[in-house]
Amino acid sequence: MNPVVKSLSVERALGPSADKFLIKQPTQEQAEEAVRTLLLWAGDDPSREGLQDTPRRVAKAYKEFYKGYQEDAAEILDRVFEEVEGYRDMVLVRDIPFYSHCEHHMVPFVGKAHIGYYPAKGVVGLSKLARVVDVYARRLQTQETMTAQIADVIDRVLAPRGVAVLIEAEHMCMSMRGVQKQGSSTMTTRYTGLFNEPAEQVRFFTMVKSPGL
Ligand SMILES: [Zn+2]
Repeated sequence: MNPVVKSLSVERALGPSADKFLIKQPTQEQAEEAVRTLLLWAGDDPSREGLQDTPRRVAKAYKEFYKGYQEDAAEILDRVFEEVEGYRDMVLVRDIPFYSHCEHHMVPFVGKAHIGYYPAKGVVGLSKLARVVDVYARRLQTQETMTAQIADVIDRVLAPRGVAVLIEAEHMCMSMRGVQKQGSSTMTTRYTGLFNEPAEQVRFFTMVKSPGL
């Protein structure tokens, strides 16, 4: 095992905010060295002109791809707008685009998330839901995990009468490698509260799939 990998230690924190954990960060130099190793592994020469700056760029891109590790979805949802004028029906935000990477191959999966909830105490700013999707998308995980995480944090922080999350995505690890099936999409759902009723799931799905503006 090389020394860079050995120096990493991941420690999961206990308690409800278990999506927060501590990582001993490698240095920029170590990260760039790791990229050079992968370039060699791919069969290229990291010292050739076109690749000289690549390790630095990749290290920088990683900061962006995985910035969700620095963010807390519960904090984003924390500010609830109470004045809903008695609005009790479903709030649905659909077609939230996201870009993520699967934890098995670190290859992108790209798609859309749809989130519905029945407010109880209040509603949250609509853009907050999109930001919550982004927090989890910008981490390594599976689509299934991401779907559950989004539903669970909304359920926990907003305490609505029910949450529905539907994610549809295309996985590059299926299109570019392995079975190489292009254009297939994967759908995952998570329902809580009122959405455990099949009729509510149908209503949610119908609204998600109804023609747009
Ligand atoms: Zn994969």
